Amino acid sequence: MHFPALVRLAHIAALSLFLTASAFAQDTIILAYHEVDPVPERGWAVSSEDFADQMRYLALAGYNVVPVSDLVDYIAGRRESLPPNAVVITVDDGWLCALTEMAPVLKRFGFPWSLYVYPKVVGQGSHALTWPKIAALRKAGVDIEGHTMSHAHLMHKSHPDLDDAQYDAFLRTELDESKRVIESHTGQPVRFLAYPYGDYDDTVVAAAKRAGYEAGLLSWFGPNNRSTDPLRLRRFAMVSDTTLEQLRTALGAATLELRDVTPANDGVLTADQTALIATIDDTQLDPASIRASFLGNTTADSSYDAESHRLTLSWKERPREERQTAVILAQTKSGGRSIGIVRFYTSISARQKYAARQDALSKIPLHHTDTTRQ
Ligand SMILES: [Zn+2]
Repeated sequence: MHFPALVRLAHIAALSLFLTASAFAQDTIILAYHEVDPVPERGWAVSSEDFADQMRYLALAGYNVVPVSDLVDYIAGRRESLPPNAVVITVDDGWLCALTEMAPVLKRFGFPWSLYVYPKVVGQGSHALTWPKIAALRKAGVDIEGHTMSHAHLMHKSHPDLDDAQYDAFLRTELDESKRVIESHTGQPVRFLAYPYGDYDDTVVAAAKRAGYEAGLLSWFGPNNRSTDPLRLRRFAMVSDTTLEQLRTALGAATLELRDVTPANDGVLTADQTALIATIDDTQLDPASIRASFLGNTTADSSYDAESHRLTLSWKERPREERQTAVILAQTKSGGRSIGIVRFYTSISARQKYAARQDALSKIPLHHTDTTRQ
């Protein structure tokens, strides 16, 4: 077993550590995706609906999605700055869904992203990308980067049967040779490496550097800034049951406290309700900055009355999607960001459906190296 359930706990532990470090304006979070499927069957797959919501959230909350190369250039001093609230999107492994499910959504939002492929799986089975498809993504502007030759564990301790010379030859195949193979198919230099399983140590990092990689991506969570070693960039793993609330925290925004919310969070809309109403009385917030929107296709008008502390998000046509997510944005007086999330359903059966789905998603074990699926 490669990814024990502990990984999820590790994320949560890392999240709480991160809160204290999130005040630096130029911290950049890298999101690590693997798969997006209409109905996820694997722990590393995010549902298509959740993925669309996550991208809408990034756009609505004003995050600036930048290419990983901008972050690496910034750390190296080749770039003066990054835009505020910069986020990087990475996709590991090279599954077909990167082309069918993810690329169209990312294109719609104009978000740059990078794909990390390993030659051993390319063209293998109906779920893997082929080289012509990878080349087509490259032509469409996607940055194609490296994920070793065979998705191997790279640390010597994972290969106790190899002597030093054999281990070095192994690293050269996994790191140097795979880089050349990918470059020969895309016609572009491979500059970055995603370490399979996030496995790395000083020897692996030195070998990656020797092979010519400018940056290496881990699976451990944390912010990246000018003091981060580019060969040890940290990422936030987006998995099947990652919630918007977890994404909010990972991206460093505070939780905007809402009181007396109607319809209640996780509640069901009644026939006569045409507005979401909540009280916001956090004195640290700039009242003029408070606004709300739905994540989906329902248009609604937002207003905030600083005297009554009342937020109103009102709509004329009944919300279209069965699950409605309202995002409430505010700036703190000290320049931070505070974000509230309220979710409600248009029927009891819709709420039951989503609850059952979330439950099923949280039970899928985490593993992402199978090359065959039912
Ligand atoms: Zn991988």
